[in-house]
Amino acid sequence: APSPATLPGVVGDQLRVPLVTGEQVSYANLDHAASAPCLEPVRRAVDELLPWYASVHRGAGLASQVCTRVYERARDVLRRFVGARPDAAVVFTRNTTDALNLLARALPKGTTVVRFDSDHHAALLPWRGRQVRRVGVPASPEEAIAALDRTLAACPVGPRLVVLTGASNVTGEVWPIAELSAVARRHGARVVLDAAQLAPHRPVRATEWDVDWVALSGHKLYAPFGAGALVGVADWLRAAEPYLIGGGATRQVVDLGERLGVSWAAVPERHEAGSPNVIGVHALAAACDALCELGWDTITAHEQVLVETLRAGLGRIPGVRQLALWAPDHPRVGVVSFAVDGVDPGLLATALSAEHGVGVRDGAFCAHLTTRSLLTGAGVDGERALRASIGLGTNPEHVERFLGALARLVEHDPRWCYRLVDGRWTP
Ligand code: PMP
Repeated sequence: APSPATLPGVVGDQLRVPLVTGEQVSYANLDHAASAPCLEPVRRAVDELLPWYASVHRGAGLASQVCTRVYERARDVLRRFVGARPDAAVVFTRNTTDALNLLARALPKGTTVVRFDSDHHAALLPWRGRQVRRVGVPASPEEAIAALDRTLAACPVGPRLVVLTGASNVTGEVWPIAELSAVARRHGARVVLDAAQLAPHRPVRATEWDVDWVALSGHKLYAPFGAGALVGVADWLRAAEPYLIGGGATRQVVDLGERLGVSWAAVPERHEAGSPNVIGVHALAAACDALCELGWDTITAHEQVLVETLRAGLGRIPGVRQLALWAPDHPRVGVVSFAVDGVDPGLLATALSAEHGVGVRDGAFCAHLTTRSLLTGAGVDGERALRASIGLGTNPEHVERFLGALARLVEHDPRWCYRLVDGRWTP
């Protein structure tokens, strides 16, 4: 496996954090699935553009021209990054949530949306007010395919949209996208892929997998917060009312006396009203470029070793129950959620941070249905779990420190041994 020295640095990899003992340690960020640290090449790209800070499409000044060029070039980068067709529309959004909400607003009248209960809330919820068909949390990839088939067969006539998740943010499991989208096609449905967790770890191949739209977030892809994208076919977006109303989305506004006559701009500008986030979009494109330059073989090799160490190590700590939808050997990205018998996840996450400088996530991960179903399946009476997630900013020492700390806290430290009694964590 490539050593961390061959990987591009991440901003903050020298970060030292204070422990309750007063000692300072390097920060072990095992929360890449929430937001991944910014890559150094991304920081450089942002630094280069900052002196040219100007609004796009607004002026003849050189800075505005530079920013416009950079912003429009980013659309090509995103299209290539997700393997979309050359004529795919690229609408810049704030993040995946924003991208999926934009698509939800653009659905033609009478569209039925089919989505899995296991989706992240960003993919599960924006379709409210539409006809929605649920597919339950599937016990295997085969069941996911069969259940989707059954659900689509029972759908009303009319446009259909299937929502798929590339990789679960709770279990890291990679979904059989090409197979599921083939089922969708057989039933005349379109497909949107929530690639928020997949895109940082595996190549996205929209055309090969035959998905119509891909949604992703820059902050999970080693760029700063604030930029994401919806990439895909333009027709529904063209026919829809603008996502936001304002400058940039209009072609012309005229005075008709009693009212104003407005004609809207073409896609993508139609859905990008307001001054866009040029620096964020440039950073997002720089992250896509940096990942492609590094190569997916290098990325997956680095992550695979770490996630296997993580899972094997967790398997050796008594009382740890790893959460998984599917078989242990199913392909997954570097996300592992787990519960510890008799220990409150919040307390454990706090102790890992305060006493060991390790950052993990606790909670239900914006996927309440999945987390609850997995905990019940694992025989745990609770609603919250812990999640450790790795990426390019993780090195073997971080994983070892986390495992060592967790073992010590769970096995030897009675302060963290709480039990769930009548729904309350009790010492
Ligand atoms: N989908 C998945 C699978 C995610 O993990 C997340 C973020 N946790 C989202 C969607 C939403 O991403 P964002 O918060 O950047 O909009």
